[in-house]
Amino acid sequence: MPAQNAQVLFPVNVEGAFDYEVPHGLELVPGDFVFAPIGQQFKLGVVWGTGTAEPGRTLKSIAEKKHCQPLPEVMLKFVDWTAKYNCASPGMTLRMVLSSYKALDPSPIVTHFSPSGQEGGRITPARQLVLDKGGPFPARASEIAQRAGVSAGVVRGFSDAGGLIAESLPVDQPFGIPNPNLEGLTLSQGQSEAAEQLVASVAKPGFTVSLLDGVTGSGKTEVYFEAAAEALRQGGQVLILVPEIALTQAGMKRFKARFGVEPAPWHSGLGEAERRRVWREVITGRAKLVVGARSALYLPYPNLKLIVVDEEHDTSYKQEEGVIYNARDMAVVRSMLAKQSVVLASATPSLESLVNAREGRYQHVVLPERPGSITLPEIDLIDLKDTPPAKGDFISAPLIEAAEAVLSRGEQAMFYLNRRGYAPLIICRACGEKLKSPDTDSWLVEHRVTGRAVCHHTGFSMRMPKECPACHAEDSLTSVGPGVERVAEEAARHFPDAIIEVLSSDTSGNPNAIRERMARMEQGEIDILVVSKDVGWHVPREDDDGRDP
Ligand SMILES: [Zn+2]
Repeated sequence: MPAQNAQVLFPVNVEGAFDYEVPHGLELVPGDFVFAPIGQQFKLGVVWGTGTAEPGRTLKSIAEKKHCQPLPEVMLKFVDWTAKYNCASPGMTLRMVLSSYKALDPSPIVTHFSPSGQEGGRITPARQLVLDKGGPFPARASEIAQRAGVSAGVVRGFSDAGGLIAESLPVDQPFGIPNPNLEGLTLSQGQSEAAEQLVASVAKPGFTVSLLDGVTGSGKTEVYFEAAAEALRQGGQVLILVPEIALTQAGMKRFKARFGVEPAPWHSGLGEAERRRVWREVITGRAKLVVGARSALYLPYPNLKLIVVDEEHDTSYKQEEGVIYNARDMAVVRSMLAKQSVVLASATPSLESLVNAREGRYQHVVLPERPGSITLPEIDLIDLKDTPPAKGDFISAPLIEAAEAVLSRGEQAMFYLNRRGYAPLIICRACGEKLKSPDTDSWLVEHRVTGRAVCHHTGFSMRMPKECPACHAEDSLTSVGPGVERVAEEAARHFPDAIIEVLSSDTSGNPNAIRERMARMEQGEIDILVVSKDVGWHVPREDDDGRDP
């Protein structure tokens, strides 16, 4: 600035930034992290701009500047834009950005030891064990001690005597540098033409939006990899947003095959140490390629050149709790503010994006189908009037036969049903009463896994009652209709040897559980996965870790 006053925004639920006096000699720029008094305590906030000086008004003073990289200026605009557009408080939006306070400090340092090749004093039996069994080196004292079956004191003593070399290494290691010039898969003519259009828009300075529109199997990923390679060649950072459920090992390996290294991953299931590492590597600009779920958009990139939103139509880009936003739309805004490129990719583009493309606001890159590159699935409709399931069952004979054929070949099956829980309706056989959520007309859904009756609209939930609440008849309540739990139960009857699991927001409520199941499905450890439709979007809020700055 330097100014006498500065505005500071805190990551708390407040309307906006507060004015503070800047102490003499303290130089601040927007984005700097500072400690300042708010209420009864000192809190970490971000310098948001120059304060307004009103004569006669005494301001509290900023206490201290934190010595770390300032938040990139585009992030300040992006926070303001996100907050205003989505009617959220700027403070809570900033909190979403500050997803790891520990990342503001340098990486913790640990001492690693390795053999020096020198004598190192007397070689006791314990020291010999360190040399023989303590490796691989370099390693921490505790790791060496555990492998060698000695105390950590032995390792340190041996180092003091010169037998081991100690070196200080940061815990948080940088990510590998992606190589944009590795040879990817050979592109078809249609892919090459589409890739050229995207590369040209990335190469052009300024804001561009492209809709990459291609049916399943047309090879969209290879095409946007070329756009990413161009942005990397320019020295920029690249963010690839994918639906939470697509963040699997198999997905990461495709990036490694094209760019030589795995990208920096970002999703809600990362542990604190990994979050700290990614956040710090992103703000320093060292992490060049980030692949993440929607909240990766709010990492503090200083030099972002390209955002790709894969499966842009996917509903998991909508965050529906806390700060409510659609990451696809905010990715376009972020790109506009930073004057960079964004690619929206989909086999089934959203109506909004299609309209924008047709009206010329977005570049429309249509990828032709690759002939013979993929066999699209055969789709049959089964009329349950012709082949009704057995009494009380829901899976019809043609479906059982088809699943049997698949399983006998050692392959896997998925059953989709748009109803979670066990049964969508609980009714009394004695009086006909239907169990409803209090003060509403919505039916309670039986969840047998948890033993509860749950309203999917109001969130009301109670233990499954033993008797009818209306006529008090005992054991008269019966479940009507299928939910995924019931289908899984029935499938287990038809396929007693199959490993059957349910994937729904009830059984796999957190993203880690979803990823874990998807990984097991990929590895062939599950034969039949019964999936409810709500898995993609019902991903809990990612930003709030409950910690206070
Ligand atoms: Zn009753």
